[in-house]
Amino acid sequence: MMDALKFDNRFTNTLPADAITDNTRHQVNQALYSRVDPTTVRSPHLIAYAAEVADMLGLSPEECRSELFIEVFSGNRKLDGMDPHATCYGGHQFGNWAGQLGDGRAINLGEIETPNGHLTLQLKGAGPTPYSRTADGLAVLRSSIREFLCSEAMFHLGVPTTRALCLIGTGEAVMRDILYDGHPEPEPGAIVCRVSQSFVRFGHFQMLTARKELDLLRTFTDFVIERDFPEFANIATPDRYITWFNEVCERTAGMIVEWMRVGFVHGVMNTDNMSILGETIDYGPYGWLEDFDPDWTPNTTDAQHRRYRYGQQPGIAQWNLMQLANAILPLIDDPKPLEEGLSGFARAYEKGWQAMMAAKLGLKKFESSLNDSLMMLLTARETDMTLFFRHLADVDFNTGNPVEPLLNAHYSAPDQKIIHLTSTWLEDYQQCLSQQGVDLKQRRQNMNRVNPKYVLRNYLAQLAIDDAEQGDFERVNETLDVLRRPYDEQPENEEFAEKRPEWARTRVGCSMLSCSS
Ligand code: AMP
Ligand code: MG
Repeated sequence: MMDALKFDNRFTNTLPADAITDNTRHQVNQALYSRVDPTTVRSPHLIAYAAEVADMLGLSPEECRSELFIEVFSGNRKLDGMDPHATCYGGHQFGNWAGQLGDGRAINLGEIETPNGHLTLQLKGAGPTPYSRTADGLAVLRSSIREFLCSEAMFHLGVPTTRALCLIGTGEAVMRDILYDGHPEPEPGAIVCRVSQSFVRFGHFQMLTARKELDLLRTFTDFVIERDFPEFANIATPDRYITWFNEVCERTAGMIVEWMRVGFVHGVMNTDNMSILGETIDYGPYGWLEDFDPDWTPNTTDAQHRRYRYGQQPGIAQWNLMQLANAILPLIDDPKPLEEGLSGFARAYEKGWQAMMAAKLGLKKFESSLNDSLMMLLTARETDMTLFFRHLADVDFNTGNPVEPLLNAHYSAPDQKIIHLTSTWLEDYQQCLSQQGVDLKQRRQNMNRVNPKYVLRNYLAQLAIDDAEQGDFERVNETLDVLRRPYDEQPENEEFAEKRPEWARTRVGCSMLSCSS
């Protein structure tokens, strides 16, 4: 069973381990990770698995439903060749250097070579590690459902992301104070198995530089380049590091463009939550834009400054890249090429964003003034971003009332003023389409490939969670199924495309999330 999983564990075979091995919480030196076993759980049960991820790993549906699978991915049993460990990183949290953080509740089981690339398997919520600080190393069902569903939803949308193999209930209670108001309650515990080529974060580099372990910084950076960016491994230093940094900047720019396209707000863009691969990582208090509000963040912990709001994500990504640049500066000694890399980020982002906005409108090229007036239109009333763009494709300029398909995107009944504003914009839009010679017959099809119909609306995740907390996992699986085909019309699943109902406006867990997870 599960013979396809052949472990080669390059990380632990190449890099130095923590000399302290008793899983006590401590500051780590001259090491990138600590070996630590997952904590055994009482009655693990499979809630859901992603067949596509299983397939990537060479696991059959039968294997995924087996007792062994549940034992292994709940952390109760180690397969031959696994080398469980938690890695050491630091990070800037909300703009401040936080020192050592590390995998406080993530345990890498090991790395495997597959026909689909070299991948790391990681459990999230499998018990304490030397990096757990004051916390328990566990995860609750609600946040695990959110991580599981969103990873897969993002993948199917075409956004770079870590993947999720499975979601397993532990049968154990975890205490959480959701609102941080001194009322902790027991909640069901769960574990997600995440899969990615690499779980290395900006914070790994930052930690080594902060500890002034520059030899290890060089060894580690070379390891990351050799394993995950082999195309640069033969370039002489320091150009190797510069070329690699430019690539990280470009990938990060590409990832943020995709977030902006689908209306995703990460919520906690700390440098420890930035993947070196440019993948979306660490799904915590993230959210999806409902009404198009560039100032919106789902994270109540960030409510005051809204540092990680939708519209600020590109700027924060660049700030985070600057911290990475500072961390690797000792390898290069000259800040100039790194500054150029950061400017490269800005250029790549702007170019990618313009192309993306043009595609969302079905245009051949970006039209600045049309885009500016669109932003004004979208923020004039509470307008659902997903519905607006999806329905824009349905606008028929040959009817007497082209505005009609867009009216349903508003959260309140549209008045004359907004109808007028919309039709004025549609006139400019129509003119632009015609100036650019856009084939109107192709327009709808093209737009529907970049404007999803189905996203993991905040309230949809909550509905799946509500059922799951009552022991009914059907909705988790049903939601995953719908999100597998986000750009398709699915007439039988219209309810999953509906805008946020009023009850969800203020409900905790829907549009407002804390870091408690
Ligand atoms: P986050 O911003 O949620 O990604 O987490 C920041 C840091 O806190 C990381 O080092 C996590 O591993 C750690 N952390 C978060 N939740 C827990 C938990 N329940 N137990 C232990 N460590 C945690
Ligand atoms: Mg994190």
